Amino acid sequence: MPSPALLSVDLSALARNFRTLETVAGAPVYPVVKADAYGLGAAACATRLMAEGARSFFVARAAEGVALRAALGPEGSGGPAIHVLDGCAGETAQDLKAADLRPVLNNPDQLRTWTAAGGGACGLQIDTGMNRLGFRPEDAPEPFDGLGLVMSHLACANTPDQPMNRRQRDAFAAAAARYPGVTRSLANSGGCFLGRDFAFDAVRPGICLYGGGPEGRPDARIAPVATLSAEVLQVREVPAGESIGYARGFVADRPVRAAVIAIGYADGVTRAFGPRGAVWVAGETRPLLGQVSMDVCTTDVTGLEVAVGDRVELFGANRLLDEAAAAAGTVSYELLTGIRPRVERLHTEDCDRN
Ligand SMILES: *Cc1c(COP(=O)(O)O)cnc(C)c1O
Repeated sequence: MPSPALLSVDLSALARNFRTLETVAGAPVYPVVKADAYGLGAAACATRLMAEGARSFFVARAAEGVALRAALGPEGSGGPAIHVLDGCAGETAQDLKAADLRPVLNNPDQLRTWTAAGGGACGLQIDTGMNRLGFRPEDAPEPFDGLGLVMSHLACANTPDQPMNRRQRDAFAAAAARYPGVTRSLANSGGCFLGRDFAFDAVRPGICLYGGGPEGRPDARIAPVATLSAEVLQVREVPAGESIGYARGFVADRPVRAAVIAIGYADGVTRAFGPRGAVWVAGETRPLLGQVSMDVCTTDVTGLEVAVGDRVELFGANRLLDEAAAAAGTVSYELLTGIRPRVERLHTEDCDRN
């Protein structure tokens, strides 16, 4: 039974973006597959990225790491290293060890907990100014057994001329110098494009792998990966003067042909899409009409040949993720991770299906 609302994921485009990022950064890519690979399916994406050569991944939560480890196999027999950005709380240390996960230790408490649990392969985060996770540079520990990665995170990498980027880069270089021989990683997606001196020994892109531009707008170097589409459930002729949807959100000032499509806020197409939202339908970009409701929304197909069962694109190759996110007043990250479980995920190679 084909799903009315579909998120199709083009794994060959994902692989192309992986290779692009490796070339641009000039360093190995350690993909960030947290939040189920930004909603695209962590097991499928990571499996494809491993085939492309990825040997090390990042998730946020320990539970995400446990699930990914089960999908990819143990580190000893060809499985990748999996880093957990949350680090290590007392009750999770044993789970991390049991699943061969590497916490990224963020503070002295986490380091103590990990050491008390027997230690082992792990990473260390230094906060270089974002004031989110990580040791302050002056509190960073002496080198210790098991430390395989030292990292920091850029606050403004999507804004190349923001001077904080360079300050963070220099602070990181200084802090990482305490750990000779340990892999150094600073750059997220945006950081991959800031110059080779931001790449260090490994980069950690997320959004650019999944088709978002490094500066929050479409970028020709990044291939679209995810296509969100939904079926037309009904096409209707709306006479001038009548309204469409809840609260008379749209009032027709002329006769309108409207297509009702099978996707709504319960699928992650939030009500914020209403006012400036648009879809790509029958070869054109057309606005949404009125409010998005739970299961459906409506678009203007006046003058177009559209039939029940046709697919309408919310974002994809014809309406880029960053454009769609901007129209909804949000960012590619939130749009992708907000696509709800009711939307079927379909993984393909060289997907030409919208
Ligand atoms: C989410 C995250 C990334 C990936 O960021 P993108 O902007 O999606 O490339 C990298 N590093 C850390 C610490 C993160 O939390």
